[in-house]
Amino acid sequence: MKKTPSGTSVGVEDPYEHVGVCDHLTGDGRCRYAFECAEHDPAFAAERRADEYHCPVAEDEWDWPDCPHFRSRSTERVCARCGLEERRNAHADDRPLLEEHHLAYRDERDLGHEITVYLCRWCHARVHRSWANVADDVSPDPEALAAREARRSEELRELSFETAAERRDGE
Ligand SMILES: [Zn+2]
Ligand SMILES: [Zn+2]
Repeated sequence: MKKTPSGTSVGVEDPYEHVGVCDHLTGDGRCRYAFECAEHDPAFAAERRADEYHCPVAEDEWDWPDCPHFRSRSTERVCARCGLEERRNAHADDRPLLEEHHLAYRDERDLGHEITVYLCRWCHARVHRSWANVADDVSPDPEALAAREARRSEELRELSFETAAERRDGE
């Protein structure tokens, strides 16, 4: 299993098996990084420009690990391991149920690529502390479900309180 610099597990053998497309890839197969961030890597930008900004991975010339600017940060707010969905109350600053987890670190292979997924707090702890795999087919921890349900009923309570307040205002 691949490890973080501090020696805990990241929960996958190969981060690149868990990535979708690069965040910089446009719908028509071009590299957004090369025209938006050209000043950060002029040589890379110049090469891409010479090729009309086509992404070499989309063109089947490279794989994601070959690109110096590959980035894949998950935006889907569900746990990649157990499927728990985030639930945040509007004005509560409770700790989020989901946390961003890095699959890649700067080393000989990952080139500092940013590859992240979301994990619930419970799966996140298991991945780092007890070698759980992100790809495990598991249901949410009972505690995780309880925490989510608690937030849901809190939300409903607030909602009915607000509706009652509005009704009073209307009188
Ligand atoms: Zn989970
Ligand atoms: Zn993590």
